[in-house]
Amino acid sequence: MDAFTKACAWLFPQHCKLCHQSLRPAQQLCDYCCAQFTALTDQGETNLLLRADVQRQFSLPDVDHLVALDWYRPPLSLWLKQFKYEQRPYCQRAVSQLLAQQFARLSMTATWSWPDTATVIPLTPSRLVWRGFNQVVQLWQEVLPQSLFDVNILDRRTSCRPQAKLNAQQRRRNLGHAFSTNKTLHNQHVAIIDDVLTTGSTINAAARVLKQAGASSVSAWVVCLTPKETVQ
Ligand SMILES: [Zn+2]
Repeated sequence: MDAFTKACAWLFPQHCKLCHQSLRPAQQLCDYCCAQFTALTDQGETNLLLRADVQRQFSLPDVDHLVALDWYRPPLSLWLKQFKYEQRPYCQRAVSQLLAQQFARLSMTATWSWPDTATVIPLTPSRLVWRGFNQVVQLWQEVLPQSLFDVNILDRRTSCRPQAKLNAQQRRRNLGHAFSTNKTLHNQHVAIIDDVLTTGSTINAAARVLKQAGASSVSAWVVCLTPKETVQ
């Protein structure tokens, strides 16, 4: 640790956002609290599509591999909302710290392989102008190697309505031809990153377009899975 970092740590001591114990610089959560986020990894399964409870809840026929940090519930649900709508940086850093820890663990497993490219579900232009940033890119950019990112693979048609206020049937109809791509992805493994998987219809519509463009494998990497009982 350099002298400047030491001085900052002394002047502005950081505390865990959950248990308030002192932290090392650049951390938002202590090791003990980080270790509690194991609801989706407690069975040792690195592909959540192989879990029966996840299979029952999400229809992802065009997705081959699913990674998520946890179910959509506090504190992650609060951090995601506070970052998305109030731009609170500590919320982004806490989520990114947990994601980085999970991917460090996954990358050491025997069956893990990094994709050729990681891309993002594009916001509609009006949403991007209104919000001013794509929160998904910010959540993930500290987690993944920069060389993996290509945020310009998918295009979104402007007539598509935002999904958040639609039920499952309306979401599927809304997404019929929502995405397109100009890229050729012959034999590539592409990961789609996102914040919350609600019904799976958005990511699956994007995955279908990637497969039609030649992708041999599509992974979905999200922060949270929404339990079915909370989706209309
Ligand atoms: Zn803690």
